[in-house]
Amino acid sequence: MCDPLEAATPSRQPEPAAADRPGMSRRRVLGTMGVASAGLFAFADLVGRPGLAQAAPQDTDTSGASVILLGTNGGPPPLAARYGISSALVVNGKVYVIDCGRGALSQFVQAGLALTSLAGIFLTHLHSDHTVDYFSFPLLSATTGAFTSTEVYGPGPAGEPSLVPSAPGPVPGIAGLTSLANQAFAASTTFFKAENVGKDPASLVNVHEILPPASAGAALATPAPVMTPFTVLENSDVKVTAICVPHGAVYPAYAYRFDTDHGSVVFSGDTSPTPNIITLAQGADLLVHEAVDLAVYAGLGLPPALLAHLQAVHTDVTQLGRIAAESRVRALVASHLGPGDPAILSNEGWRKALRDSAKQAHFGGPMLLGMDLMQIPLRRH
Ligand SMILES: [Zn+2]
Ligand SMILES: [Zn+2]
Repeated sequence: MCDPLEAATPSRQPEPAAADRPGMSRRRVLGTMGVASAGLFAFADLVGRPGLAQAAPQDTDTSGASVILLGTNGGPPPLAARYGISSALVVNGKVYVIDCGRGALSQFVQAGLALTSLAGIFLTHLHSDHTVDYFSFPLLSATTGAFTSTEVYGPGPAGEPSLVPSAPGPVPGIAGLTSLANQAFAASTTFFKAENVGKDPASLVNVHEILPPASAGAALATPAPVMTPFTVLENSDVKVTAICVPHGAVYPAYAYRFDTDHGSVVFSGDTSPTPNIITLAQGADLLVHEAVDLAVYAGLGLPPALLAHLQAVHTDVTQLGRIAAESRVRALVASHLGPGDPAILSNEGWRKALRDSAKQAHFGGPMLLGMDLMQIPLRRH
């Protein structure tokens, strides 16, 4: 079997339009994904059902589960090479989106996912690189009936005063963000409604604010104490649990674990190394973890204070092998990459850093470099 680190190389070439492909089902959930590749099947041999990605769409068995990386860049500045951080979990034909960075909605469509299948949106924290495209989902669906409503889960208010003079008051949580975004676009909605072609975008989302259980002892001053995961959602397809993670001044910031009948996946969100990730990810089939390469940043001549900040709020790639090994996960995928610009750190440079990290920690499972539109089928141990 070839090395999945070398071989899992998704294509960024757009697929032909559905109408151009013979036999394309109109009721598709997973299309042909814009994902190539022999490499994916090599990885599928390890953690998934071989051939899922190459099945003809009308034959695609949507009773399974797979993760699709919609965007893999870390941080707010836009890049040509990677879209902002966002991932999708497809389970039993329903789609859950985790974080909505720049281009999340466009990539959702590019991946061949159907908005009518959108069952939930989960936001790990409220930094702009994770939220900027969130309201696009209801806003740009409000004239089409693309979905009637979806569940949204995200951090509740931090209980902290705003540091933005032009936006005073307490900083909003996900419910406030939603209502304020809806208000900001009231002109558009009003004009569409006046011609009877639109709905209220806010009516398309059912927002759930998440705050850690009081017993965890999490607070602004202690944002991520050692704690046990708590349940956010449980239905016939998924059980979603969350845990607080340390991410600088951010409170609350969550990692999410999705357990399905087909396998389990954990999304770290943005975090510095923490025992809480080890707890949440214990025994999972796949861990999608953020990564920065501090040595590369140091080589760029960044000011020491900025380097110290990056070290304090993110996870260096050298730590990922240890985290994967201690979590006893089956495979790890590095996403939310910093730097995400291949002109600064090439994909091969990232893969070497991941190999070195795995080797150092004696982690024998795959450590993949996340690529936009990469699809990873899940299969239980
Ligand atoms: Zn981020
Ligand atoms: Zn962040």
